[in-house]
Amino acid sequence: MPLVVSVNNHLPSDAPIQRPQTVAPPRHLNGVRRVAVILVMVAGVRASLAANVPVPLNVAAGERLLVVAPHPDDETLGAGGLIQRVLERGGMVRVVLITAGDGYVEAVQHETGLPHPRPSQYIAYGERRLREARAAVRELGDDRVRLQVLGFPDGGLTALLHAHWRRTNPERSSTTGASEPPYPEALDPGIAYDGADLHRELLRLLDDIHPTMVALPHPLDRHPDHRATGLFTLLALHDWAGEEVQPPAPPPRLLAYLLHWPDWPPAWNAATPSLAASGATLELPPTLPAHDGTRTALTLSEAETTKKAAAAAKYETQQQAIAGLLAAFARRTEPFVLLSPRALQEVGRMIEQAPAVEPRRQKPGDKRTPSP
Ligand SMILES: [Zn+2]
Repeated sequence: MPLVVSVNNHLPSDAPIQRPQTVAPPRHLNGVRRVAVILVMVAGVRASLAANVPVPLNVAAGERLLVVAPHPDDETLGAGGLIQRVLERGGMVRVVLITAGDGYVEAVQHETGLPHPRPSQYIAYGERRLREARAAVRELGDDRVRLQVLGFPDGGLTALLHAHWRRTNPERSSTTGASEPPYPEALDPGIAYDGADLHRELLRLLDDIHPTMVALPHPLDRHPDHRATGLFTLLALHDWAGEEVQPPAPPPRLLAYLLHWPDWPPAWNAATPSLAASGATLELPPTLPAHDGTRTALTLSEAETTKKAAAAAKYETQQQAIAGLLAAFARRTEPFVLLSPRALQEVGRMIEQAPAVEPRRQKPGDKRTPSP
């Protein structure tokens, strides 16, 4: 198993960043010194804030963008603006859905009215979400976005990293009952639900696409599938760079998008999402650790923001469940963390330290309930 652990690098911590605190100058200072102290404090606060100010994301002509999405709709919420911009600049876009989103228990219970829906009903729900994904990417790029689905188990990606790496011990989806993709349109229906197969699929895609940009879930995203997808993608990028006869030069830019974080994005749970809010920027939460990455953001035109919202609207199943969350990502900016190449060297340790046992339910603010 090509999993390299670097001992010299550190793992991004979950600890919140210490925000600058305002401290009153000592009373005994005279006026001049007090002004000087205040100026120094202001400069310090500005410098601290500057670390959180995103740098503009530039999209060159002819980029080759790979968007890795754990579930249908993540590609639109995380990178719907970037997809449009790359196409507008003459580049190509490939979207890869790791799962069909067939593990959303509450939604299928609600739709069927059954406390225990059948596996076929979960598969039908997955097919519906795949149809919605095709409509969404058509909205973003007509027929210029190539969409592919791998069909791994929704809600079960972390288990592939830790408990089901080998094909001899595949995972079984708790909702569809499958141990291999039940979807005819899966890129390779012959794969099994194990980590080695997902790793190989991602390596194959990298070889095929030779991306100049990879949009991937942030490896600290609070949704287990997102975190696992981010780690699988980094692991594949690490091994791809190591195994290539001619490694990509320069290496692709790694753009991590965040979708699940406590009490974020702002107004995600608003009862009636305000269309006017689309004129506001979207900033990454200050509590997101900034190690080994630079905050960056793509500024969208009004037309791009509108089209991103229109693509999200194609996900009727999700509009019924989480309309506020979908609306909260249609903003004037699309934020990312530009990961440093060092993230590839740290992925082995990050996988080792990632929680192996998933909580049945996430904390409030994490929006979605993962599959049991
Ligand atoms: Zn997702």
